[in-house]
Amino acid sequence: LFEPHRANSRGWDITHRPTLGDIDTGRTPFHRQTWNAAPLTSSRQKNSNSDARPVRNPALHNDTVGHITWATPEDATAAIGAAQPWSAPVTERAAILRRVAKAYEDNATELFAMLHREAGKTMLDVVGEVREAVDFLYYYAAEAEARAPTPRGIWTCISPWNFPLAIFTGQIAAALASGNAVLAKPAEQTGLIAHRAVQIMHAAGVPASALQLLPGGGDIGGVLTSDARINGVAFTGSTATALKIRTAMAHNCTPGTPLIAETGGLNAMIVDSTALPEHAVRDIVQSAFQSAGQRCSALRVLYLQEDVADKVTHMLKGAMKELAMGDPWHLSTDVGPVIDDAARKGIQDHINLAKSEGRQIYALDLPSGGTFVAPTVLKIDGISDLTREIFGPVLHVVTYKARDLDRVIADINATGYGLTFGLHTRIDDRVQKIVEEIHAGNIYVNRNQIGAVVGSQPFGGEGLSGTGPKAGGPQYMARFAASLGVPPIP
Ligand code: GLU
Repeated sequence: LFEPHRANSRGWDITHRPTLGDIDTGRTPFHRQTWNAAPLTSSRQKNSNSDARPVRNPALHNDTVGHITWATPEDATAAIGAAQPWSAPVTERAAILRRVAKAYEDNATELFAMLHREAGKTMLDVVGEVREAVDFLYYYAAEAEARAPTPRGIWTCISPWNFPLAIFTGQIAAALASGNAVLAKPAEQTGLIAHRAVQIMHAAGVPASALQLLPGGGDIGGVLTSDARINGVAFTGSTATALKIRTAMAHNCTPGTPLIAETGGLNAMIVDSTALPEHAVRDIVQSAFQSAGQRCSALRVLYLQEDVADKVTHMLKGAMKELAMGDPWHLSTDVGPVIDDAARKGIQDHINLAKSEGRQIYALDLPSGGTFVAPTVLKIDGISDLTREIFGPVLHVVTYKARDLDRVIADINATGYGLTFGLHTRIDDRVQKIVEEIHAGNIYVNRNQIGAVVGSQPFGGEGLSGTGPKAGGPQYMARFAASLGVPPIP
């Protein structure tokens, strides 16, 4: 299937698949609309900031998606003072969260367009993202009804740009379902969709004093994580920022104020000589390159047993050749842009250095315009060669000998990260051994290692990858609650 030469000899031109997007049938009026966003707070203080920043489409820089006015530190302090836990009975809170889920579905076309244009997400990813947001709403509504949580008080929720609707909604839904007040700070890059989501939540019946939106940068996050009136912080983003938040909370918040941090990873996959190469290659491509590699779960380091390394690498090149890069709205696009120019530069510098050292195995051609990074495969000697998470479509490959498997496992564990891990083998004992020995929150066997499903695959890591409890799992809500009427099933 992934043999490009064989495909061509049968007369298929795999580089020019028909695209519906080419004839623009997919565009909706939301692809011409612009959105304006500003803080949504219930304090009487008027927002003093009049500086509306343009938001540009990462795939098409001449497409202005809208304008956003950031909150000031004074707005954030005033919002903390105005926050009021949601006092409605749990059945009413759950009913309203379900109404939000329904409203997301009713407004899916608009949300898809915003995810395409503000976050550069492909069709596959926008559909998955809205579904995940909806799943979080239903899941935490049901959890709250089952567990009867009592609120802790005021929660700060700080969410990332890579899941600007799903993770944004998941954190807020868990906190609100438990009856807390929420101060939500979306990522700097994706404030428009966060604003739209909060509008929908307010319209569905979430009180303005229970959910306030404070778009902005690190100064706003600083205020919202270093105030003694905060009773908990949920954060998804980099490990470095999580450590800063931990320090700020240690100095300013009451001891025992919980921090739920979901951070980065140096996620590995081991493919041994018994793996089915076609199957492994499909899962490698999805894990490393879907979402342009901008998932904290994404595969970064692929360990190939030397007996199959050449074959798998050859098939991987063939599979990568089939990836279409470009405008994420086109139905045929597999890989969209990375989020912004700073991200592009950081990833490209890493690739350029490896290339100058002769370590590039393969890379696709770059499309023009936008902040694109070509899916690239680099050779390294071991995972310890990587000193940071490269948050983009870059796969590092290591070849190992069968007798060195224990050292490979030890090297992966020694990174200190532990988010996702993938394994392709057909030996049951080996599955057993590796799954027991690898330190990772989510381990996937003979499948891809992205796309954890709310409710059935709780998601989160250990060590430098996060504090737990896992999002979308039965322990998550307990951390948002002061107590539970009915405890989670252990
Ligand atoms: N939950 C997502 C997945 O399983 C990753 C979340 C993230 O990137 O923060 O792929």
